[in-house]
Amino acid sequence: MFYKIALDGPSGAGKSTLAKMIAKRLGIVYVDTGAMYRSIGLFVLRRGVAPADEEAVCALLSEIRLSVRFDGGEQRIYLCDEDVTPYIRTPEISMAASRVSAIPAVRTFLLDTQRDLAKSASVIMDGRDIGTVIFPDAEVKIFLTASAEARAHRRTAELLEKGIATSFEEVLRDIEQRDKNDRERDVAPAVAAADATVLDNSLLDLAGTVEAALHIIEERLALCERA
Ligand code: C5P
Repeated sequence: MFYKIALDGPSGAGKSTLAKMIAKRLGIVYVDTGAMYRSIGLFVLRRGVAPADEEAVCALLSEIRLSVRFDGGEQRIYLCDEDVTPYIRTPEISMAASRVSAIPAVRTFLLDTQRDLAKSASVIMDGRDIGTVIFPDAEVKIFLTASAEARAHRRTAELLEKGIATSFEEVLRDIEQRDKNDRERDVAPAVAAADATVLDNSLLDLAGTVEAALHIIEERLALCERA
């Protein structure tokens, strides 16, 4: 039997780093759903459409063909057969993703793609609404969070490492704006599922976060087995 681990939480909490390590440790598939929203943000920007313009974005959806492939365990995301994985990590695309993700039709558009990926393998899927909307029946639900400042420090270092020039203040402003967009949107607001375990890693390093998450996962899976 395949199982699903839903890993939700705000931007910069370290979901993708954690999910990759957990996937490796457990030998399961990691699915990054933020990359799907980012790819739609990229498509919309390339077309010169404002990501918050619901009507114009919806008009483009029928042209978008999105697929996810795995290459050596790494997720690659294809937009109309082009591998756009290298182009979706800029601050501009982050904000565009945050805007398009508030549009109900965009979320519906991506629903089946996300659900289908869990049909043939056990997965750890990270996002904002995995435990609430995509897999309300997930065997394990973790809501990973940290203070906005802790997240901004980590994200700044990450971007600088990638050679993307930025400042702590700019990243913090960006994170706070995206948190607000995600939390306050009408559709699938980014909140913890009632039955999720909240893991605040503001004071934990990566190893500590991994251990804490593995502990939650083992406990939840054991409970499912007994049920
Ligand atoms: O996780 P990541 O920062 O890559 O996600 C980019 C944006 O996509 C987020 O700011 C959020 O607005 C949106 N998102 C979402 N639901 C998901 C994953 C991402 O709304 N499941």
